Amino acid sequence: MRRAHLAAGACLVALLLYPVVNPWQPYPQAVLLMGFLLAVQATSWNIISGYAGYISLGHSMFLGLGAYTVGILAVRWGVNPLWVAPLGGVTATVVAVLIGTVVLRTRGHAFVIITIAMLLAAQIIAVNSRDLTRGSDGITLELPFWHRDFQNIPFYYAFLGLLVVTVLFSAWIRRTKLGTGLVAIREDEGKAASIGVHTTRFKVVAYAASAFFIGVAGGVYAYYLTFINPVGSFAILGSVTIVLAALAGGRGTLYGPVAGAFAVNLVSEAATVYAGGVQSRVLLFGGALVLVVLFLPKGLLPTAGAWWRRRHPAKVEYIEQPAALAVRERTPPPAAAPGEVLLSVRGVSRRFGGLVAVDDLSLDVRQGTITALIGPNGSGKTTLFNLVTGGLPADSGEIWFDGRRIDRLRPWRRCHLGLGRSYQVTRLFKDMTVRENVVAPLADARWRTMLSDAVRGHEAERARELLDLVGLGRFAGQQAGALSYGQQKLVELAQVLMLEPKLILLDEPAGGVNPSLLGRIAEVIRELNAAGVTFLVVEHNIPLVLDLCDPVAVLAGGRLIAEGPPGRVREDPVVLDAYLGADWVPAVR
Ligand code: ADP
Ligand code: MG
Repeated sequence: MRRAHLAAGACLVALLLYPVVNPWQPYPQAVLLMGFLLAVQATSWNIISGYAGYISLGHSMFLGLGAYTVGILAVRWGVNPLWVAPLGGVTATVVAVLIGTVVLRTRGHAFVIITIAMLLAAQIIAVNSRDLTRGSDGITLELPFWHRDFQNIPFYYAFLGLLVVTVLFSAWIRRTKLGTGLVAIREDEGKAASIGVHTTRFKVVAYAASAFFIGVAGGVYAYYLTFINPVGSFAILGSVTIVLAALAGGRGTLYGPVAGAFAVNLVSEAATVYAGGVQSRVLLFGGALVLVVLFLPKGLLPTAGAWWRRRHPAKVEYIEQPAALAVRERTPPPAAAPGEVLLSVRGVSRRFGGLVAVDDLSLDVRQGTITALIGPNGSGKTTLFNLVTGGLPADSGEIWFDGRRIDRLRPWRRCHLGLGRSYQVTRLFKDMTVRENVVAPLADARWRTMLSDAVRGHEAERARELLDLVGLGRFAGQQAGALSYGQQKLVELAQVLMLEPKLILLDEPAGGVNPSLLGRIAEVIRELNAAGVTFLVVEHNIPLVLDLCDPVAVLAGGRLIAEGPPGRVREDPVVLDAYLGADWVPAVR
């Protein structure tokens, strides 16, 4: 990354000097400044569509909104458009918040469609609001007040300055908890919500942040063109170009969209000069988009980076046995007194079509216990976890946690109240490093937290301790996806512990974990329990369950069929019949 910053700095110096060295050639300056404009847009687009993974196909709308805001105000107020350019950014941001608040509540593809629809709607509104926009006639602005001979130079520096600010802004976002949260949303939105990321707000903020500088640039662009009309300002081709630039350069990276914008701009310029006409450009861009998606799915910069790393491989650290367990003194989280009910599931049901996965189930988990939840596959254990943590809504019943009713709360609220969980099939953010995974959880939904550094001092410290605790300290810098399955389970455990939850739901923590790690997991659970953390554990390893847990609850067909101390449950004829089998012989007596 340092190399990339150095290269970017060198390019910036060269671009700053270029008009000084070569002031009398407006054409190359014009080509470059259009490159800056596209780079501003692609870098902004990258915040919502690269970091958060929500593809916008209508992003040029914000350029048009900025241009119209500035055009209308400059003419009305009789001021120079440059003075009101920031208001273009304000309009773009306000519109983004309004659209985002409605559309981004949900997950999935609605967003893509709506962004195109909004672009087209904006064009129609601009055509029809004649009083405001002069309809198809368009708005003509005053000419630049400086001398024609260096016509482009002020615009050149204005767009270059905007580009620098936009890149810095994007880099800053990526370094905050907002940025990590956006990447978490891209990789696994449900999981992000369960570790405390207020996904709706994160997405709306990202969408708004991706609109502001495009709006400002739109205002400057209007002045550069000195004429704006609906068709030119709200063009679908502009949006496609933004997407193409960001994809070609490397979506989700900092400099990829900038590099892509310059590349696309050059190709587009060449097409205009040698092939001419908008049709040929549409064909060219369409073809280029297909080629990029097929052959450069990650984009230019990431592909080049991967090639470089293959040529200069870093030293690989080999997996060793985990270091000795080092539990530190922890302050027990404040919760109900030992023995009081911490989690209370009351008459909860959940159906999938005709199947009743959880059937009018009531279950209490008491403070300070390690409660087991066992039962055959398909008996509804994971579904119950999803109902408790908010991954799924319950059809009926109530869920109470630590004295509050939580079944209507969003997943991140439940996390902030002190509920943590792991997944049966681990759901780490595989593109993040192990350390980033561990610090990804958010303890609250305050703006201050969201905009603070992704890893604050004490968090790095704590992440290291937790990774040491599960014996994976030396893998902190590795990609989470590169670890073995059992190790991923342990990283997920460390991730859950980051927020010091009051209650931790573990879904088959020993599944797929090798025996030496198994002992460690049991040890970690015991240590934490001694420090005041309550557990609800789903597990098929019965000897482990009987050894570790008390009480044990048994589920079958979505109903509770037995509950009590392990000694009693393992001899209960109903449990033997439904789950353990009549010939089951306990391994540990
Ligand atoms: P367990 O964790 O005890 O093995 P689950 O809670 O995963 O069981 O599943 C309970 C039942 O609900 C199973 O029959 C399963 O097929 C069904 N089920 C779980 N999740 C879904 C879903 N998202 N859609 C449809 N059916 C589901
Ligand atoms: Mg399950």
